[in-house]
Amino acid sequence: FAQSLSDPGLLRTRGLVGGEWIDADADATCEVTNPATGAVLGTIPDMGAGETRRAIDAAHAAFPAWSRRTAKERADVLKRMHRLMLEHQDDLARLMTAEQGKPLAESKGEIAYCAAYLEWFAEEARRMYGDTIPGHAADKRIMTLRQPVGVVAAITPWNFPSAMLGRKIAPALAAGCTVVCKPATQTPYSALALGVLAERAGLPPGVLNIVTGHDAAAIGGEMTGNAKVRKLSFTGSTGVGKKLMAQCAEGMKRVSMELGGNAPFIVFDDADLDAAVEGAMASKFRNTGQTCVCANRLFVQDAVYDAFADKLGAAIAKLRVGDGLAGATEQGPLIDAKALEKVEEHVADALAKGARAAMGGRPHALGGTFYEPTLLLDATPGMLLAREETFGPVAPLFRFASEDEVLALANDTEVGLAGYFYTRDLARAYRVAEALECGIVGVNTGLVSTEVAPFGGVKESGIGREGSKYGLDDYTELKYVCIGGI
Ligand code: ADP
Repeated sequence: FAQSLSDPGLLRTRGLVGGEWIDADADATCEVTNPATGAVLGTIPDMGAGETRRAIDAAHAAFPAWSRRTAKERADVLKRMHRLMLEHQDDLARLMTAEQGKPLAESKGEIAYCAAYLEWFAEEARRMYGDTIPGHAADKRIMTLRQPVGVVAAITPWNFPSAMLGRKIAPALAAGCTVVCKPATQTPYSALALGVLAERAGLPPGVLNIVTGHDAAAIGGEMTGNAKVRKLSFTGSTGVGKKLMAQCAEGMKRVSMELGGNAPFIVFDDADLDAAVEGAMASKFRNTGQTCVCANRLFVQDAVYDAFADKLGAAIAKLRVGDGLAGATEQGPLIDAKALEKVEEHVADALAKGARAAMGGRPHALGGTFYEPTLLLDATPGMLLAREETFGPVAPLFRFASEDEVLALANDTEVGLAGYFYTRDLARAYRVAEALECGIVGVNTGLVSTEVAPFGGVKESGIGREGSKYGLDDYTELKYVCIGGI
């Protein structure tokens, strides 16, 4: 596969520890496969606690010098990484599609999105201001400093192999932290390519370390148990997030958690239906429904239910399903067999409980982990897909009568990441945006992700915010300095 890249050096099959590209201690490896074809792309080192400990040692040793650099010096490295990512956008996108399955156009978009975080935090690095505060006594003065938290451990998922990492390493490096990261086992090459570009951008050895392997619990256990790590930043499932947070409690480590959602997507009867369909398609079917902000439950008001269902069905029918590397594909495969199983389980449960499949509802004729883009009518709150993220190309339509009713339904979940609604009533736009128990609300739009806005959830969807002017806070400590005897 490397030979199909214009810069084959971007495909690395080793981990990065202390500036060295290394194999696992026991020389063990794991295979990385293309979910669209099942073909083996290559291997990665199967590392465990020992290699992770050495990576943490390297990050710890690199911290004093990196954190003492001026913000401008750190920003310059991040800006070079940003430029290099864009220069290699095509190769990086091909690499991502090969290991992740998403259509090439989406991969290109993700590379630009990841690069945008590097640029944004290069700019923010120089504005890590503290305050001076009017003192509480005549002979005292008060100021605050913002200092990097220290060594950061980052664990990232497979659905956005570059962007989820960029969102963490950009603010961490900007703040002066050093990092040990563990990409998802399914999609390590995008992360390793970022390591290559970091090296080319002049990031000093040990500042960014990448460990790979299938035993996430062993790597995560070392990250959360090692006293040299001061913070864990995790994006993944709520279940694993809770486990890691509990492990972090022992050493009082700081945590940032970007966990699962169960996004409501509400279409009121005063909505622009064509715009709502466009938003629903973007929110529901991007990355084959495998994003944590994907519309999971589509609530449609009585009067427009049938019209919306018809229009959405027509849009779904046009989706081109296939290998993300081939032509004008809009829907790739699901990431793996486990993901396919979950989608099948959710659909079977819904059909058994009275839903009707207006479109799809079966594994795709292409085989493997491809699934038909699916529209389910008459969904109800008792179904599995109302309680859990389906993480697949399934749009279930729930019916509702009133604003109060739909707000109760939308908020009836223990998670709260994104929520969307369509209306042309200004007062309702304010009311509903305020009432939704979510960290992110899209009003008359299905696309909300950008590096300039704070991304994060409420309730069991997580802790902390990534991106925006707030994003640096998660990687800094606020120190209060009181100067007496004046
Ligand atoms: P997903 O459903 O997206 O795969 P996971 O939470 O299982 O969600 O995975 C997200 C990341 O967390 C991946 O990098 C995975 O390898 C890692 N992970 C899974 N289990 C653990 C664990 N027990 N400790 C640390 N990391 C884990």
